[in-house]
Amino acid sequence: MPDYDILIRGGTLIDGSGAAGMRGDLAIAGGRIVALGPSLDGRAEKIIDAEGLAVTPGFIDIKTHSDFVLPINPKAESKVRQGVTTEIIGHCGFSVAPVLPGKTQLLADYLSGGAPWLPFREMSFSEYLATFPAVSVNTGVLVGHNTLRLMTMGLEDRSPTRVELEQMLALLEDGLAAGALGMSSGLFTPPGSFAKPDEMRAFAAVLARRRAAYFTHIRDEANKVMEAVEEAIEVARDFSIHVEIVHLKCSGVDNWGKAEAVLERIAAARAQGCDIDCDAYPYAAGANPLKNLLPPWVQIGGNATMLARLAQPETRARIRAEIERAGLNNWGRIPSWEAVQISISPRRSDTAGQTVAALAAAAGCDPIDQICDHLIADDGATRVLITSICEDDIRTIVRSTTALVGSDGNCVATYGVVSQGLPHPRFYGTFPRVISRYVGDERLIPLDQAVYKMTGGPARALKLSDRGLLKEGYRADVTMFDPADFRDQATYADPHRYPSGGRTSVIVNGTVVVENAIHTGATRGMVLRREPDGSVS
Ligand SMILES: [Zn+2]
Repeated sequence: MPDYDILIRGGTLIDGSGAAGMRGDLAIAGGRIVALGPSLDGRAEKIIDAEGLAVTPGFIDIKTHSDFVLPINPKAESKVRQGVTTEIIGHCGFSVAPVLPGKTQLLADYLSGGAPWLPFREMSFSEYLATFPAVSVNTGVLVGHNTLRLMTMGLEDRSPTRVELEQMLALLEDGLAAGALGMSSGLFTPPGSFAKPDEMRAFAAVLARRRAAYFTHIRDEANKVMEAVEEAIEVARDFSIHVEIVHLKCSGVDNWGKAEAVLERIAAARAQGCDIDCDAYPYAAGANPLKNLLPPWVQIGGNATMLARLAQPETRARIRAEIERAGLNNWGRIPSWEAVQISISPRRSDTAGQTVAALAAAAGCDPIDQICDHLIADDGATRVLITSICEDDIRTIVRSTTALVGSDGNCVATYGVVSQGLPHPRFYGTFPRVISRYVGDERLIPLDQAVYKMTGGPARALKLSDRGLLKEGYRADVTMFDPADFRDQATYADPHRYPSGGRTSVIVNGTVVVENAIHTGATRGMVLRREPDGSVS
C-alpha cells in the first residue's frame, strides 16, 4: 500500500498566506493535503517532480460568470489552465436560477448578451444546485438580484410593492437555504439600477440573518465611483456582513487616477471593522452587453420593447444627447468610439473584432445609429469590449494588498461553441498575466503576495474553511507552474489562446486535472455550500 496518492517533490511551496516560499515536498491522500515538509519520505502512487516550479494553492477566481458556460464546457479549460481550481459564479446580479414558471424566455433574452448559448429552463435554486453538472473546477454560487427582480417585476423602473419585495426575499431565502454563498447585485444596469438603497438593505438584512455575503457590481464605476463605493461600505457597516466590491475600476477618462483614493477608502473602512473586500482584473478594457452602455431607460419593458424603441429617431436623439453629456452608462466618457469593439455578436458574427467607429464609418452613419441598428439586427445580444481604464490605475490596484485578483471571465475553450467570437482575453489570461507581467516584468509585487491575492486572500473573503492554503488537512487544490514560463498569450485580437507553460499542472480535490499543460478530462470539482455558521465548504 502506498502512503500517499500523490507526492510533489522539490518545488517551491508558496502556501497562500503571503509568507515567502520554501523549498519542499507536499503529499496528498484521500483528496486532502496530508503532509508538507522540507523532505517527505514514503511511497506514493504518483510522484510529480516539481523542481524549478512554484507549488501553490489552486487559484480561487472569486469573480466569474462561468455559470453561463460550465454546462456546455464542463472541462473549464481556459480557467484550469491558468491554475484556477475554484470559481464563484452568479455575479453582477445575473444568476441563471431561479427561473419561475413562464419566465424562461424572459431570462434567456435578458442574459443573451452574456450567455447566448446556454439553454435555460424553469427551476428553483435548490434544483439548480442539486442538478449542477460535473465540472473540472469547484464552484460557489450566488443568487442574482437582477434575476430575482426580473422574475417578480420584469424590467420595471420602480420600487417593488410589499408583496413583490416579499416574493424576492423568499426567493433569496430559498437560494441561501440550498447553499448559495450569498447574493450578487448589478446596480449599474436594469433592473438592478432601478433598485434604491432601501431595497438593497432589505436583502442585506436577510443575508445578515443567514450569515451570508453580499457581492456587488456597484452602482457606478465611472463618474460617481466614490459614492457607489460608499453605498457598499454602508451595507457592510450597518449589517455586519461581508461585502465584496467586484471588478473594481475607475472607468472613463474623467476618472483616471482615482484608484488610489478608492482603495484608501476601502482600507479605511476595513480598519474601522467593516468586513469588506474588492477584486479586479489586470486589463484596461472591460466587457459588457452593448445594451448596458446605453442609458438604463432604454431597457424598460424588456427586449422586444427595447428593440422597437431603438428603431425610433427620437429615442436615438435622446440617447445621443445623454451620452454626449455624461458618457456611457457605467463606463463614463471614452476618448472615441474606437474604444468600443464588438466582442461576440451571435447574429452578426462577421463584425467581431471591429470597433463601433469603424462600423459606423463603413455604414456611413453616426455611432449611435450604428449601435441601435446593430442591437436590432442582433436581437439585443451583442457583447462588446470597452477600453476605458488607465494602466496606472491597474498598477495601483495590482500593487495594493486591499484588492484581490478576480477574472470577471468565463471558462471557455479553443474549440466548440464557446470558442466563438472574440471574448475578453481575461477569460484566458488573468492569473498568468498578474504573475508574468506585474510580478515578473514590472516587479510591482513579490510572487508570494500575488499568490495570496489569488488564494489565501479570496479564501478568507469567502470564508472557505479548508481551501486557499497549502496546509495539512486542507482540500488538495494545488497549482504548479514555472514562474519563468507562465505567461498570458491571449490578446484582444487573438483571445482564444491558453497561457504558456509546458510544465503547468493543476490538482482539484486530489485529482490531477491538468498535467504538463494537458487536460486529463477529470471533472471532480465540488459545489461549495454555505454552512449555518457562514463558513463555506
Ligand atoms: Zn459586473
